[in-house]
Order: sequence, then structure tokens, then C-alpha cells
Amino acid sequence: MNKSNRYDDAVIVALGSNVKGGYASCSALLGAAVEGFPEIGLTVVKRSSWWRSSAWPDPAGPDYVNAVALVETTLAPSALLAALLDIEAAFGRRRGLANAPRTLDLDLIAFGRLLVNVPGLTVPHPRAQDRRFVMGPLAEIAPSWRHPLTQQTAAALAALASIGVEASPCHR
Ligand code: AMP
Repeated sequence: MNKSNRYDDAVIVALGSNVKGGYASCSALLGAAVEGFPEIGLTVVKRSSWWRSSAWPDPAGPDYVNAVALVETTLAPSALLAALLDIEAAFGRRRGLANAPRTLDLDLIAFGRLLVNVPGLTVPHPRAQDRRFVMGPLAEIAPSWRHPLTQQTAAALAALASIGVEASPCHR
């Protein structure tokens, strides 16, 4: 049996943007998105600093600004994802080509220790552990969080992540 961990109930949302839309910067856009979280029933417990990383998989695209937030909610996972997709739409996200530049990308990374695999929703997010622009910000605010499937900590996964390895905190 694994020992319990203070982040076992953590609901984790990752944010990313590489198109600033009508905002002064991508971080301003992400900040406005986080400020809108309470309107959809999310209380932000903690947010990482803004991180910057090259666009992936095509680094020719504009850099991304990323962050991770720990939230509390009474929404069920599928309702939470629907609410996140609504915020993306409100911020002008247009779904087109996969990995195309985007004003706002919101991913549900984990919902406590819950495992969800239904059409349209997989939790924990199946690629989050490989992305330093997710695991780095998560390790900043919850280093001892453990991946529900592998039990590896956020700190270990941030060090091991192979995608977006240059991701680092920024202050814009
Ligand atoms: P993306 O283009 O990467 O934002 O993909 C979003 C799509 O992935 C949504 O339409 C969701 O239905 C689906 N999806 C599946 N699992 C997740 C998750 N854990 N977080 C966010 N989107 C998810």
C-alpha cells in the first residue's frame, strides 16, 4: 500500500496559450482565463508561475506560455471537462488542425486518484507525464503529487519528461 499524500485529492488543470488574441500577452490571457474559473464552479487553490516553452511538435510556431492550477470543484470529471471546453471557446479557441496555434488550451490532468476512460475523456491525461511544460509547473506547486497510474512524483516526472524539455518559468 502506498502512503497517503496531501495531493491525493488534487484536481489538476493545465493551461497553455501561444496566441494572445485581444490580450497584451499570452500570460495576460491565461490570467483572465483563471480569473473566470469561479464562474464555472472551480476554486483555484494554487497556481504555478507562467512557464515558457517552444511550440511542439513544430518549434517554428510561436512559443507557448503554460501553467498548472490545483482546483477544487463539486463538478464531476465529465462536467468539469465540458466547462473547460466552454472556457476555451469563450477565449476564441478554434479547433482545427491538431497542435495548431491556440489562444487557450485547457487540459484536465488529474482528478484525484480517479481513473476515467470514456469517449472524449481520459484521466489522468494520457500524455501529461511526458510534457515538461505540464510536469514542471506541477512540480513547482505540488512536487510530491504522485501519478495515479505509475506513482511517480511530479518532481521525478518533470526531470524525466521528454517533450518540451526547454520549458522554464518566465515572468511575462
Ligand atoms: P486538445 O486539442 O488537445 O485540446 O484536445 C481536446 C480534446 O481531447 C477534447 O475534445 C476532449 O474531449 C479530449 N480529451 C480527452 N481527455 C482529455 C483530458 N484529460 N483533458 C482535456 N481534453 C481531453
